[in-house]
This record gives sequence, structure tokens and C-alpha cells, in this order.
Amino acid sequence: MPDADRAPARALRGPVRVRTLHGWGGGDRVRSWVWRPPDPAALAAGLASRDRRLARGVIARGMGRSYGDAAQRWGGLAVSSAGLRELTLDPVAGIARVGAGVLLTELLRAAAAQGWIVPVVPGTQFITVGGAIASDIHGKNHGSAGTFGAHVRTLGLLTADGELRDLTPADPLFSATIGGMGLTGVIVSAQIALAPAPAPLLAVDTDRVDSLDDAFSALRADGGPHRVAWLDLLSRRGPRGVVTRARMVSSAADGGGPMPAAAATTPVRLAVPPVIPSGALTPAVIRAANAARFWRSPRHERDALIGFGPHMFPLDGLAAWPRMYGPSGFLQYQVAVPPGAERVLEAILEVLAAADAPVYLAVLKDFGPANAAPLSFPIEGWTLALDLPRRCPALPAALDRCDELVVEAGGRIYLSKDSHVRPATLSAMYPRLSEWQTIRDDADPAGLWRSDLAIRTGLVSDR
Ligand SMILES: Cc1cc2nc3c(=O)[nH]c(=O)nc-3n(C[C@H](O)[C@H](O)[C@H](O)COP(=O)(O)OP(=O)(O)OC[C@H]3O[C@@H](n4cnc5c(N)ncnc54)[C@H](O)[C@@H]3O)c2cc1C
Repeated sequence: MPDADRAPARALRGPVRVRTLHGWGGGDRVRSWVWRPPDPAALAAGLASRDRRLARGVIARGMGRSYGDAAQRWGGLAVSSAGLRELTLDPVAGIARVGAGVLLTELLRAAAAQGWIVPVVPGTQFITVGGAIASDIHGKNHGSAGTFGAHVRTLGLLTADGELRDLTPADPLFSATIGGMGLTGVIVSAQIALAPAPAPLLAVDTDRVDSLDDAFSALRADGGPHRVAWLDLLSRRGPRGVVTRARMVSSAADGGGPMPAAAATTPVRLAVPPVIPSGALTPAVIRAANAARFWRSPRHERDALIGFGPHMFPLDGLAAWPRMYGPSGFLQYQVAVPPGAERVLEAILEVLAAADAPVYLAVLKDFGPANAAPLSFPIEGWTLALDLPRRCPALPAALDRCDELVVEAGGRIYLSKDSHVRPATLSAMYPRLSEWQTIRDDADPAGLWRSDLAIRTGLVSDR
């Protein structure tokens, strides 16, 4: 590690500020340096310097949309990718060359204007390409498209030795970087293979379901590859929900007609004010909102035409929505379990109910087979994501119990959403963790890359 006393002044070119950082769900608020290098050369030079602000660890940060402490390092340096803005597109081959700081919303618009679409998108368009790769994000179409990482052809990674490496899927360091949570280096750029899309338009099938079993069945039914169940877990009638299966509209003859490229994204319409009354969000309020959403949805509908953006990113219309949870915030608990472990998901809901931990948002999806990246989250089966207000006192113990159930079932939690998992539990969930650690440690023997998540979970040792 650099000798703090001999750090040259102004080694970090570009703005450097002290900021309070936290995850999208709130959680631990930490003071950290945040540095925005203007270009890859400044990034390489700064990291090669002996600047004292590198001493407590360095971690890349995109839009801070990961829910916990993955993109922060207490007292350390967060490297913002906001200056890494290259975006060029080969409209014939459908390959985008992008800087890591480009937002998916920007890439989607550029791609849609040329008849292409980003093949895997999460539930928000406001994430960076670097964040998408480092979390190896999944969409609603994992069964057919895999993760974001499956579409990365090459990536430029700035490693701890100051070298900018061009990696391909054949490199072990490539696989360790896909889902590697920023702990192999700073992703600078990537080439992404896009999917053809004559129009950014989806044909959507919708079914209201009256139980969890019906949700599992509807997610398995014939129909488009973009599948998701929104669940109302606060209804007094028991779990119920709305399942959608969507497919890209393939031509104007398919009912598409002209559709502006802007439909690939969705605008922000409202913002939650910075200060709202504490406790504005209660189980009773959510119960009423859920009931309205449930009854507003069609019982059965087929082939409704909806823009790609509005369907994929329904939460993006309301900026800063986590503020509604008040100062204590919320956490998201997301697990993946193998096929046949449906009852484990029910058991998790029972544990949370017994702990009086209300689930304000619940989303269920199916996953296809896992990929070759050792820390990639998706495994074949089901994934359930639950938003839980943090102020419930019994929540930590309940989540420990849920983790035990997940481990017994051969499942895992999603690091990009995590804020609680224990080191021993994590290694039980990710059997290839030591393989990943070996590749990581070889590329960063002095432990430059560290995040609070990495220290808390033992992904990287604290020095
Ligand atoms: C409303 C909402 C819905 C979501 N839905 C989904 C979903 O459906 N599927 C899904 O998979 N995820 C989902 N997410 C999670 C989100 O996609 C990931 O957390 C994503 O990584 C956030 O990207 P970011 O740019 O905000 O990265 P950050 O949150 O800033 O960072 C996330 C991780 O990426 C690393 N990182 C960021 N940039 C770089 C870089 N240039 N080089 C190396 N490492 C880097 C960070 O170190 C950190 O470990 C959702 C999040 C929200 C808020």
C-alpha cells in the first residue's frame, strides 16, 4: 500500500471531494473520498500515485443503485466512473463500445435509434455499464438471454498494477470481473453485443394470480421470455399477484407500427421531496396501494402493446423513491434457489411474518442455467426479491434464519443487494468463492480494491 506520508499533492487529476455515501436502500452512511477521473489516463496515473487517499482501499462506484455497501469504502476512495463516457455503436454488427460510466438509459436510446436493444436490463435504467458488469445483472429474461455478462465481448480493466488490460471471455480475470463487485479493478470500457429490435415495443400477457402456486405456474406458462411476478404479500387474503410474460414485437406486421426510440426508456415524472414525515410508509398504506394495483390489473390479457421502457422500469418514474422509507431506510433481501425449492421461498415468507417484518415489495422471477463466472448470482430455479423496512427490530435474526434455509436448499443471496450476510454463510452459498479469491488475489496482491461489502463478508481480507 502507498506510504501515506510521502503522498504527492494533486496526484488525483479531476474533482476529489469528501462525501457521505450509502446504498440505494440507505444503511450504513460512511464518509469517503469520491474521485472523478476525467479519462482512463488520469485514472491510471492516479492509481499509480502514492496518494494517501488510496491507503484505506479503493472501490469503483457507478450510480450507487446497489442496495447495500458494495460501492463504498469507509474512509477510503470511491472512484466514480462518471468521466468514462465513450459511446459508439456499429449499427450493422450491433456492437456497442461504451465507457463504464455510460448509463443503460443512454445506451438504450442510442441502440433503439439504430434498431437494436440492450439484451439484458434490470428493473432500473439508471445504472452504469460498469455496475451492470460488476454485479452481472439479470433481467426478466434470464431463461433466454442469461446475464448482462453473457453479452460482453471484451472489457477494459484497470488492474491494481496500473495496467489497462483488454480482457476476453477466455481470460480467468474476465470471468472473475463479471459479478466480481468491483474487486478485480476498475472497468473502464466494454464491448456489448446488442439484440436486434425493429421497435422498442413489447407484446405483454398479464394474469392476476391468487396464490404463490399460481404465480409459479403462470411464470412457467407459454409466452414471451420477459417474465416477472409482482406479489402482494400484505393482503389479508394471503399472497396474490400479477404475472406478466412479454416478448419483443418483431415487426410492424406484428402490430408494432412506428415507435419512437424514446420508448426504449421511460421519463422521470415525479420526485419524492428530500424530507418527508417519518413513518409515512406503513403496512396499511402499502396494503391499500397493493390492493389498488392488483384490482387495476387485468385478470387475463394477451398481447397488449407496451413500450420497452415503461414495462421494464416502472419504478423509474418516481425519482428518489427510497426516501419514502424515512431515515432508517430499507433493505432488499434477494435469494436464488434451485428448481423444486419453491417451499423454501414460502418458508422464508413465514420466517419474516413471524418476525413481524412487513414485505413492502416482492418480485418473483425464474432463472435459467448459471454461467461460468464464479461470483455470478443467478442459478437455475427461482429468484425472490423482498423490500423490507429496516426499522423492524427482529429483522437481522430473521434474515440469518432465512439464510440458513437458503443454504440448505443450495441457494444464495445476491451480493449487489446484500447488507447483512455473514462470511461463513456466503462461502456456503458460493461454492466457487475460493477459486474467485485466488484469481482476485493474484491480480491485486496488496489489496488495493476494497469495499465495505468486501470487508464485511470476507470477500477480501481487511489489512
Ligand atoms: C429499482 C432497482 C431495480 C433493480 N433491479 C435489478 C434487477 O432486476 N436485476 C439486477 O441484477 N439488479 C437490479 N438492481 C441492482 C442494480 O442493477 C445493480 O446493483 C447495479 O450494479 C447498479 O449499478 P450502478 O451503476 O448503480 O453501480 P453501483 O451501485 O455504484 O456499484 C455496484 C457494484 O459495481 C461496482 N462497479 C460499479 N462501477 C464499476 C466499474 N466501472 N468498475 C468496476 N466495478 C464497478 C461497484 O464497486 C459495486 O461493487 C436494481 C436496482 C434498483 C435500484
